[in-house]
Amino acid sequence: MTDPKQLIKSEAMRLGFSHCGVACNDSLEELRPFYSGFLSRNGHAGMEYLETSFEKRMHPELLVEGTRSVIALLVNYYPHETIPEDDNFIFSKYAYGNDYHKVIKQRLKELINFMKQSFGPMEARGFVDSGNILEKAWAQKCGVGWQGKNTLIINRSAGSFFFIGIILTSLDLDPDEPETDHCGSCMKCVNACPTEALSTPYQLNIPRCISYLTIESKEEIPPDLKSKLNGRIYGCDVCQDVCPYNRFAQPHNIPEFLPSEILKNLRKDDWVALTEPDFDRIFEKSGVKRLGYQRLKRNLR
Ligand code: SF4
Ligand code: SF4
Repeated sequence: MTDPKQLIKSEAMRLGFSHCGVACNDSLEELRPFYSGFLSRNGHAGMEYLETSFEKRMHPELLVEGTRSVIALLVNYYPHETIPEDDNFIFSKYAYGNDYHKVIKQRLKELINFMKQSFGPMEARGFVDSGNILEKAWAQKCGVGWQGKNTLIINRSAGSFFFIGIILTSLDLDPDEPETDHCGSCMKCVNACPTEALSTPYQLNIPRCISYLTIESKEEIPPDLKSKLNGRIYGCDVCQDVCPYNRFAQPHNIPEFLPSEILKNLRKDDWVALTEPDFDRIFEKSGVKRLGYQRLKRNLR
């Protein structure tokens, strides 16, 4: 009989996932000192949910009772072409298309249905940036990549332009080998970061990161960092663009991640003149709509 893990991996590839790995649910206790330190020095920039969910993050069985295995899935979002930068502001590649949460959630649901049909009743739940999961730690344990000095998951043969989906399941699966660190002596991302947010490699200084400042933060952008945004109005890809492993990045095959013609054609003057109804229309299916029109205006300023 074919190994259940291999059947799940084949189905995952068919559904458009790029990489799939499995780990046992032995808890992440060994990471407790690292994450406790991160919280005690306010590395989470006051994002309270990271504190309140700490125990659940350490122990997935507190989220899904009976969890035996963790499945990590990577979804490629590397675009076929970048939005033109001439006479334009810079927009992060991950936000070109539809809201990735919905796109990936749907595919996780289909994979879980496949698992239930193939192997019988089980507990299984899918997560994308939700539900208190340490996605990157699990991705490394599942062997699909390592957490690089830019703190992102890097796959040795395909780079880092990936979203991470996680399934917690009561199904017993053979674990894969965890991935090890392959950054070596490279410091490209650390040196290229415009705001020195990676000055301690492997630890993101969140309040200095342009992604945080332009997407998560509800405050004005600090005066000393404004000039470093250099035209970035939504997110930042610098520490990925310079990573040598992204030489191996291949364009994605997810139609929902393609940018709309309107987004591709916007230029600086159009962004500045954008009205709230324009914003609502252009970003109707996009995660950018959570930013809201007023904060986009803040970023443009
Ligand atoms: S996303 Fe940009 S600002 Fe944030 S760490 Fe990477 S290079 Fe620095
Ligand atoms: S740029 Fe170099 S140091 Fe940074 S994540 Fe990539 S390989 Fe690691």
